[in-house]
Amino acid sequence: MSAPPRSEAPIQWSLLPESATIAKSGHLVVGGVDLVDLAGEVGTPFFAYDEEHLRARCREADRAWGGLDGHPGAAYAAKAFWCTAMARIVAQEGLGADVATGGEMAVALAGGIAPQHITFHGNNKSELELMAALSAGVGRIVVDSFDEISRLEHLLRYGVASGQRQKVLVRVTPGVEAHTHEFVQTGREDSKFGFSLASGAAAQAVDSLKALPGVELAGVHMHIGSQIFLLDAYSKAISAMAAMVGQLSPTELCIGGGLGVAYVNGESAPSITEWAQSVRDACMSSGIGDGVFLSAEPGRAIVATAGITCYTVGTVKDLPGIRTYVAVDGGMSDNPRPVLYGSGYEAFLPREVSASRPCAVRVVGKHCESGDIVVSAAQVPDDIVVGDVIATPVTGAYGYSMASNYNKVPRPPVVFCRAGEAKVVVRRETEEDLLRLDQG
Ligand SMILES: *Cc1c(COP(=O)(O)O)cnc(C)c1O
Repeated sequence: MSAPPRSEAPIQWSLLPESATIAKSGHLVVGGVDLVDLAGEVGTPFFAYDEEHLRARCREADRAWGGLDGHPGAAYAAKAFWCTAMARIVAQEGLGADVATGGEMAVALAGGIAPQHITFHGNNKSELELMAALSAGVGRIVVDSFDEISRLEHLLRYGVASGQRQKVLVRVTPGVEAHTHEFVQTGREDSKFGFSLASGAAAQAVDSLKALPGVELAGVHMHIGSQIFLLDAYSKAISAMAAMVGQLSPTELCIGGGLGVAYVNGESAPSITEWAQSVRDACMSSGIGDGVFLSAEPGRAIVATAGITCYTVGTVKDLPGIRTYVAVDGGMSDNPRPVLYGSGYEAFLPREVSASRPCAVRVVGKHCESGDIVVSAAQVPDDIVVGDVIATPVTGAYGYSMASNYNKVPRPPVVFCRAGEAKVVVRRETEEDLLRLDQG
């Protein structure tokens, strides 16, 4: 028998968490936990993470980026997925954390990230956030605007931090277009982030920061976008930055995050190790030598494939000659990426993970929007029925962290699976939680 046509093929194994196995029953097992059983225990929807997978990616990033005098070269970008259990893993595996708000910093500190291993980002940091970062003693503040320089100056001269010496990086937009969705491109000239290289704003920011007492300009930062598959985007950005780096001789050059991951069958992405090697090579050929410490901030590449979302099928609506809608008990409130970016996913049934998937359907959520799509072009097994647990893999990044309470839908729990144990690290929201802030 010949192989089934690609579209009918079972879910590609590489899209599943590293510890994934198939039980005798045919069920998918992650971290030693049968996901169909887990659905029975915690209800659906839920996010399951393979804890060993998370740790393995952290260790890979740590090996790939090294460190300088005890400062980690890799800082995990918290916004991809953040809770204290994740922060603890990041700290235990030796990574720093990149935070973009006071809230992300609070979770980092609560999860045991050492303040000096925190990098504080944001294009519009408030005075309160800057005060909190300075008081906590964060390792780096990445300066993003002239207004922020004024606020910093004020705080360092007269505020909480007078007398303190704060390490900062200056965020530069190298003017490079990464081949990714417009909303996740951040390195081009027309951007709300950082100081433009071409206009001279970056050089001006460097001069201002050098003249600021209380500030140690430790280096240069760039972040060109997200979900980047082609490593030459980094090479181009590095070559654009080379002259400035040569002039400034910074201690550190942070190349940000953005490494892409595969979401659907047939896709593949470079590994964290390949990414780091390619960046090192590009620096060498641009004349940025060993004297400059290279650092990075991977988010998606650490967590995306470690996570998987399980839903229950509630309604199957067949519109003859049009399409079949499979509606699940979640949707845009737990995964807004399809709505925001038109992102594609796969779907499969954890009860028969290796089954072929001949039926083309659209998986939709339960929200009051036609755009509430989970998987626009899904292939599923032909015995799918109401009550089935259905899963979308590679939802570990920008799913839970972007989740909302739209339609007053409680957010799902987050379950870490490891060595046969399922630990609920963030519980499911309740209707009581939804009323918690309501003052009547
Ligand atoms: C979002 C972000 C990252 C992480 O991006 P990924 O695509 O998740 O790797 C790193 N650095 C900065 C400054 C960011 O804004």
